[in-house]
Amino acid sequence: MPETRFASSHLDETLRRDASRSLTPEQQELLRPFGTIRTYDANTFLFRAGDESYGFHLVLEGEVAILDQSEDGELLINMLTENAFLGELGLLSGQRPFLSCRAELPTKTLELTAEALHEVINQISEIGDIIVAAFAARRESLMATASSNVTILGPEASRDVTRAREFVSRNRIPHQYLDTHQPDGAAFANRLGLDLGTLNVVMRGTEVVARPDNPGIAYALGMALDVADGTQVDLTVIGAGPGGLAAAVYGASEGLDTVVVENTAIGGQAGTSSKIENYMGFPTGISGRDLAYRGAVQSVKFGARFAAPRTARKLEVTDNGYRIVLCNGNDICTKSIVIASGVQYRRLPLEGLESFEGAGIYYAATDLEARFCKNTEAVIVGGGNSAGQAAMYLSRHAKHVHVVIRSGGLAASMSDYLLHRLENDPRITIHTQSQVTALHGTDALSAITLTTKGTDQRIDTRALFIMIGAAPFTEWLGDRVSLDNRGFIQTGEAVGGRSPYETSSPGIFAIGDVRAGSVKRVASAVGEGSVVVSAVHAHISDNT
Ligand SMILES: Cc1cc2nc3c(=O)[nH]c(=O)nc-3n(C[C@H](O)[C@H](O)[C@H](O)COP(=O)(O)OP(=O)(O)OC[C@H]3O[C@@H](n4cnc5c(N)ncnc54)[C@H](O)[C@@H]3O)c2cc1C
Repeated sequence: MPETRFASSHLDETLRRDASRSLTPEQQELLRPFGTIRTYDANTFLFRAGDESYGFHLVLEGEVAILDQSEDGELLINMLTENAFLGELGLLSGQRPFLSCRAELPTKTLELTAEALHEVINQISEIGDIIVAAFAARRESLMATASSNVTILGPEASRDVTRAREFVSRNRIPHQYLDTHQPDGAAFANRLGLDLGTLNVVMRGTEVVARPDNPGIAYALGMALDVADGTQVDLTVIGAGPGGLAAAVYGASEGLDTVVVENTAIGGQAGTSSKIENYMGFPTGISGRDLAYRGAVQSVKFGARFAAPRTARKLEVTDNGYRIVLCNGNDICTKSIVIASGVQYRRLPLEGLESFEGAGIYYAATDLEARFCKNTEAVIVGGGNSAGQAAMYLSRHAKHVHVVIRSGGLAASMSDYLLHRLENDPRITIHTQSQVTALHGTDALSAITLTTKGTDQRIDTRALFIMIGAAPFTEWLGDRVSLDNRGFIQTGEAVGGRSPYETSSPGIFAIGDVRAGSVKRVASAVGEGSVVVSAVHAHISDNT
């Protein structure tokens, strides 16, 4: 008998309730004009995992099984009957399905295309809220139960493996990870004849993508989101961190045809923070990933579209706005642009650094990196709030945590509440006037040299976190907008902007961390992303 995995104990009551919502007969009546009646014989598939596209189905009669199919057989995730509906968040954002759906009895459904579903969500909020909450909860449940459909396979210490795991988990893709240096992983790899020493991504138990890069993984998994070449929109947002997501929520909800371009993962820097404690409304904190996820769901609900993972490479002026060229060569023609591309971490000038990145050197401290701290001391370089948060978090996982700073103290760079916690935690040592001066190890990091006022000491560690701030990546903009001497985008009156967030080019706005003079915080990026939309409206109405 297949196991029913949906009733997972990982899921809290609210999630379970939201995931299994159904529609009342009155709500079903409202839905009918948007869909088409379909009938299925017993044992036929409504859609299968990996299909190019699929629709929303409301079950009117019969019974539908939701299945996780792999070479080991199939696992029954849930059984849906009358009044229940099929679908998951990916349906709204154009992803392929992760699971298969089969009629177990002769079945009748009302099928809506993804476009029709968007119309329903926009027009009938009572139904839209139920569907969006169910879709989001179902994605959460898929993450919690780690579908066997996607397996990341390879040695734990490999940087490619770390990169791939980080990419799928930051993108909330249901997956399992198997270490090929452990019996389970080795057996799995041997069964498929795969090299134990490299990264492989396996789908549906047998389809192998060898050594993929991140866009390669996205494509293989069907999670890549694209907009057609030459797409014309009102607003293009570059970057899906908190600022970009806020601009997308406000832009799409206020009727602007909005596309968001993101090159890595929804959430930006905030997506790598294990707990944001100072964002208003979350007294016990919220993980950056959850916060961003909510924003992404909200923007998709209002009709925003995403191109991800895609990098904006070039900006050109056209007769009625701008053309943005993406890394795959596709163009977006847009009346306005909000640049919310944030900043990227700085590296340390240490010999061998690159070869240890992902294999002992990390730039974020999420649950993924925390696992690498088991049974080892962790070293964090940096004195800002992100370093402080990482120290608090990692001290629960590592044997001991060392915080390394060049200056004589943390008071000037870290919030008081964090500094106080660090100083009072016996699992954390703060090394002032110190620097990491050498890295040691062969395939992976095994130790560092710490130099304090000219004296060297060796610390055995398999986990070095570099958190020394970040710089904007704005070269791709050419001379289209004026930058300050550190590459941050200047906005406002001083450069000819007609509003506080407009750059030196009309219709191009910059918000969040990438903007010169901004406060580098989640709340300020969200605030700027929200208010910039009124200036976007003003620009569009002045120019049409
Ligand atoms: C570990 C950590 C902990 C933090 N903790 C807190 C906290 O507790 N409280 C707080 O207020 N702040 C915190 N911050 C700071 C906060 O996360 C940032 O201020 C905030 O994320 C800035 O948002 P943003 O939208 O401007 O940019 P980002 O979050 O940097 O997002 C920018 C996005 O744009 C993408 N991008 C860049 N260039 C391109 C391109 N050319 N094409 C497509 N996409 C592109 C990037 O990949 C990224 O996803 C923390 C930061 C870190 C790193």
